[in-house]
Amino acid sequence: MDISFDNFVLFWICIIGLCLGSFYNVVILRSLSNESIVFPPSKCPKCNHKLFWWHNIPIFSYLILKGKCYFCGEKISPQYPIIEFVTMILFALTFLKFGFSLFTLFVIIWISCLIIMTMTDLKEKVVDCNIAIIMALSGILYNFTPFCNWYGLKMSFLGLILGILIIESIARLGYLFVGKRAMGEADTYVAGALGAILGWESLLLTLGYSLVAAMVIIVPMFLYNQLRNKNIPILITSAIFTISIILFKTIFENWLTYGFVAISGLTLAALILKGLKNKKENNIYLPFVPALSAGTLYFIFFVI
Ligand SMILES: [Zn+2]
Repeated sequence: MDISFDNFVLFWICIIGLCLGSFYNVVILRSLSNESIVFPPSKCPKCNHKLFWWHNIPIFSYLILKGKCYFCGEKISPQYPIIEFVTMILFALTFLKFGFSLFTLFVIIWISCLIIMTMTDLKEKVVDCNIAIIMALSGILYNFTPFCNWYGLKMSFLGLILGILIIESIARLGYLFVGKRAMGEADTYVAGALGAILGWESLLLTLGYSLVAAMVIIVPMFLYNQLRNKNIPILITSAIFTISIILFKTIFENWLTYGFVAISGLTLAALILKGLKNKKENNIYLPFVPALSAGTLYFIFFVI
């Protein structure tokens, strides 16, 4: 393949990424408000004025309008250019890594589904399970395709089943401790879809990365919430737990410091469970779809 052809394709993939990113913004917005995706034409949510054609140009319109509605001056959410930019970058990276291939096309489909579900989960804790079903079907189709050199149909189906089983079991463990599901139903759908795409072995790896991503997202969010609610016991126990781990890992690796880690860890877990039992649903909800997306992206770009 000659270099100029590659650059030509890359250029068009970026343009397509920008336009589809713009479309995904609409899908995200309207799947949250139950509006049709095609109608009505794009308008300002504040003043309802119908937009000019150039107000729909990805990223550039946001920059030219300086992030404000052309008619009423209402601030436009930076989510729009950010999603457009992120979609473009992920499409471009996919092409750069996997070249002009059928696999690139499938990865672009999967990434698109993940972008939409991640955003609706982050914004409104809503995920359209139909998108996860599209992902699962395309994953099975890819692994079924004769000229694909990936995992094959058996791995795909086992992955689908394993993904559903693992996340559904964790979700139902919630009934045991807090009397409700520990995770949303969408998490089960998405994990099943990832299994269908990746096969069961890679799924396990990806779930591991997702767990790490979840910790990176959830722990600071959790501590921030505790700080805001002035929940002193949990903050102090978290501090003791962290210090014990650092001491154990760096200087005194003995039974005494291990005891401190165990006791402070268990106390923290008990305090959190007690808090979960008393508080509203809002505090228990952990957006796991973004973590699954992060884990999947890590797998696609750094492990494959
Ligand atoms: Zn307006």
